[in-house]
This record gives sequence, C-alpha cells and structure tokens, in this order.
Amino acid sequence: MDYFTLLGEELGYMVARAELENETCGLKHSYKDPAENHQAIDLLVQKIGNTKTEEATQEIRIPVCAECADALYDDNWVLVYCIYCHKSQWISRRLAKNEYPAGNLIYWTDVCPHCAEVADKPLE
Ligand SMILES: [Zn+2]
Ligand SMILES: [Zn+2]
Repeated sequence: MDYFTLLGEELGYMVARAELENETCGLKHSYKDPAENHQAIDLLVQKIGNTKTEEATQEIRIPVCAECADALYDDNWVLVYCIYCHKSQWISRRLAKNEYPAGNLIYWTDVCPHCAEVADKPLE
C-alpha cells in the first residue's frame, strides 16, 4: 500500500460553490457519459506534501459533480487520484484486489498506470 500517498488523517475536502458555473467534473466518468456532461457543484481540495514532514507542497483543487460528490461519501467506493497526470479511478471496495482500510475514501498517488511509463523518475 505504500504505492499511495495519503497526507494526514483528515480527508481534505470542502465545499466551495463559487465560480463553478462553467466548470465540469474533473473526475472519471464513463466513455458513454463523459465528465464533460456533468456540471461541477463542489470543489475537492487537498494539500499534497511530504508525509514525513507534513509539509504541504501543493494544493490540488478538483471540481466534482453531484454524482461524484455522492460517491465520495459512499463507503462502497474508493477514489484513486493521480496528482502527476490528474487521472482518477473509482474502485469498488467489494471488487478491489487490495484491502482498502475503512474510512479512507480517497488515495492520492503520484504515479498510476496512465503515467507509469513516462514517470520513471521520482517527483522532485
Ligand atoms: Zn463527476
Ligand atoms: Zn498518473
């Protein structure tokens, strides 16, 4: 599980409805119903940094639609978000191969299958 970076115990999401009118969802949707069809209603905010020093080096802000916001609070779904290439993946807890501890609903990673080939150097 050390593949994933998780900073702190708190999930850092909060609502910021201002200026989302022209934003669409920044999370993964299906090909048939792409994220571009989904109006964002919330902003997911997370500070990313060094887990040892707890020093935040960047802040991630992702617009999310109502459907994804629901899923973020749904214990059946785990979101994996790649801070390197900004691709996300929903994982069903029931179908997951890995064990995802209860309560951790979002995993932040700096490498994923999409960028693994290009990101063979560690992030500075
Ligand atoms: Zn969405
Ligand atoms: Zn990636």
